[in-house]
Amino acid sequence: MANTRPENPSLGLVIPCYNEEAALPHLLVSLETVQKKANIPIRVLLVDDGSQDRTYEIIAAAIHPGSNLACIRFSRNFGHQIAVFAGLHHVVGDVIGVIDADLQDPPEVLLKMVNKWREGFDVVYGVRRNRKENLLLRSAYSLFYRMLQGIANVEIPLDSGDFCVMDRRVVELIKQMPEHTPLIRGLRSWVGFRQTGLEYERAARVDGESKYSLPRLVNLAVQGLVSFSALPLRLAAWLGFFTSIVGFALMIWAIVSAVGFGKTPPGWASLAVIVLFCSGVQLIVLGIIGEYLGRIFDEVKNRPHFIVESSLGWVAPADQWGS
Ligand code: UDP
Ligand code: MG
Repeated sequence: MANTRPENPSLGLVIPCYNEEAALPHLLVSLETVQKKANIPIRVLLVDDGSQDRTYEIIAAAIHPGSNLACIRFSRNFGHQIAVFAGLHHVVGDVIGVIDADLQDPPEVLLKMVNKWREGFDVVYGVRRNRKENLLLRSAYSLFYRMLQGIANVEIPLDSGDFCVMDRRVVELIKQMPEHTPLIRGLRSWVGFRQTGLEYERAARVDGESKYSLPRLVNLAVQGLVSFSALPLRLAAWLGFFTSIVGFALMIWAIVSAVGFGKTPPGWASLAVIVLFCSGVQLIVLGIIGEYLGRIFDEVKNRPHFIVESSLGWVAPADQWGS
């Protein structure tokens, strides 16, 4: 049964910002335009993810008494996903939107998403119709999403990022997930309820540079695979099984040719290849196990997810410390 919607809902927006001094002025203008078009009140929470540039000053200058903007500032850079996670902890509203600061996700689309939410959907996520990144990066993204789709034990929709609106109950559930390396788009689908995609044109970044370097993207991809699938571990076992069979067959062959035909098998080269191959496989398997072990280690340490250094605007001061 669809969740009943409040008569006068309010929209809360979470916007992670890391070194966005170039994009922020455009963002603030765009948010005002959206607020004028919207027939519901909007409250915006900007999460300054430990920026080293003038991001915080620009935000502070835009916040005045009674404004709908607020900001929490991290004590250092904790990363995009944690910034969104923290935003979800502190944001208010009946329906919550997540959007990037660089206007790659057009804020007007949020209003269409909210309309879908009113129809009864609990999650409305943006689906990128096109990407403005270069061909190499586009193919890498596409490969990653298809791979994740194939092996994850949760349906993460193809070509959807964090851009979405969610019902308050979905946000409350995500907040309860204690994961230290959350992948918001994964947790969002994991929750379930009624979800739908909304296609939109993904624009180029309005200004400034992408904060995702290749290693960070790879990291995000590995995180997605590891936190939503144990298949790599199983593959490791299969790989071990397969190499054992090959090893066993070779052993039989060696015994038969030595005992039956009196010939010792020739071959320093073949031996070296086998040894190298097997140790390669072992190291890969160890690496895969290590990846999961590392995640477990992170969870067991149970450090706070983030540390808030200061906050501005309507955010409750009691909320200042991380969770
Ligand atoms: N971001 C963040 N912390 C980071 C990296 C990025 O809060 O460590 C924010 C960034 O300011 C932007 C959003 O996450 O609002 C997406 O980042 P970006 O546009 O650089 O990534 P891309 O769109 O290129 O994938
Ligand atoms: Mg971007």
